Amino acid sequence: MNNKHNAFGFSTRAIHHGYDPKDHHGALVPPIYLSATFAFPTAEYGAACFAGEADGHFYTRISNPTLALLESRMATLENGEAAVAFSSGMGAIAATFWTLLRPGDEVIVSQTLYGCTFALLHHGIGEFGIKVRHVDLTDLAALQAALCPATRMVYCETPANPNLQLVDIAAVAALAHQQPNVTVVVDNTYCTPYLQRPLDLGADVVVHSATKYLSGHGDITAGIAVSNQALAQRIRLQGLKDLTGAVMSPQDASLLMRGLKTLALRMDRHCSNAQAVAEALQAHPAVERVTYPGLRSFAQYELATRQMKMPGGMIAFELKGGMETGRRFMNALKLFTRAVSLGDAESLAQHPASMTHSTYTPEERARHGISEGLVRLSVGLEDVADLLADVQQALATCNGTLPGRVRKASASNAAHTRAASARA
Ligand SMILES: *Cc1c(COP(=O)(O)O)cnc(C)c1O
Repeated sequence: MNNKHNAFGFSTRAIHHGYDPKDHHGALVPPIYLSATFAFPTAEYGAACFAGEADGHFYTRISNPTLALLESRMATLENGEAAVAFSSGMGAIAATFWTLLRPGDEVIVSQTLYGCTFALLHHGIGEFGIKVRHVDLTDLAALQAALCPATRMVYCETPANPNLQLVDIAAVAALAHQQPNVTVVVDNTYCTPYLQRPLDLGADVVVHSATKYLSGHGDITAGIAVSNQALAQRIRLQGLKDLTGAVMSPQDASLLMRGLKTLALRMDRHCSNAQAVAEALQAHPAVERVTYPGLRSFAQYELATRQMKMPGGMIAFELKGGMETGRRFMNALKLFTRAVSLGDAESLAQHPASMTHSTYTPEERARHGISEGLVRLSVGLEDVADLLADVQQALATCNGTLPGRVRKASASNAAHTRAASARA
């Protein structure tokens, strides 16, 4: 692999790393190798590839030149040694679990997780003799108490989907690594390596739903795992090749590399738009509570500023009147699209309890910090004034429950909208 771009900054590597047009007939954009299989010049060379003694490509479920280029870019952006591409985030997460855990092992996971990761743990690996322990990872004493000789993995999302709770990666990794044979795995989907690099903070594996910000355009499902060489090789040869077969298609790798070229630009805009929307929500009398790492009212504001370059594009909030008002708000939105997923150019709104996190029972949601009235916004790349206007008009429909406070609110919010458009 051509690594002459290693010394460059984040965006330069996202655009150029590992590729030189002169090796590819001058093609500016890396070609897509649409081949399932690869020719061996001799029988001996083919045997050497299978034995791991030669590093040529031989079958796309194991490796492919287009996937290899994407993987080298993701590895450099996360400051890891190697990466493995998957057909979805769940493919990457499932392959990592199945590779690293065996019956009798214990995995410690944070309280709040993406719905299908929760389902994989409780309806998947949990049924194969692997013990799943949920621990509040903001409480290091609780982690210390839960770690035991059978612990093989500590797994978390930070910020967590959907309630945005943070985990102090450096503190958790340092404590977990006091035990031998514990792998610390962080789902970095909400941040991307532009905002947060868990490997630099002591994690061993980073997993992503690349369906979200990394691709950024909502047109593929994709996943990535990044780690050191040895772990990546195990995840590739067990988790990917045999245990899941969840290989990314070369066309999707090409779309994902296109997305990576604008990752930094997009994240900057996602963050500034989300900050404005979060502030507008917080100022509105119909809103009970806003959770956004860029607000001073955020419970872990200090950790957010220390661990994340910027607060991200995701907001969780609750309206006075709970679920009923939340539904009214969602149905009143005109520019935000009612849809799950996140990280797209289009702003999206969804209701975790009935959608992404309906894999939890109501009791499990209550136990794991996902309230029934929570609305999740993925703030997109539209003009901030248009987003604020949409949120304001949708909030206005919720004001029926709050007589006498409507006028004051709309005056101050109009001022906010003007200020925000002046900034844009
Ligand atoms: C979406 C998501 C996943 C799952 O990824 P897919 O690409 O949908 O399989 C995992 N973790 C988080 C935090 C997510 O948001």
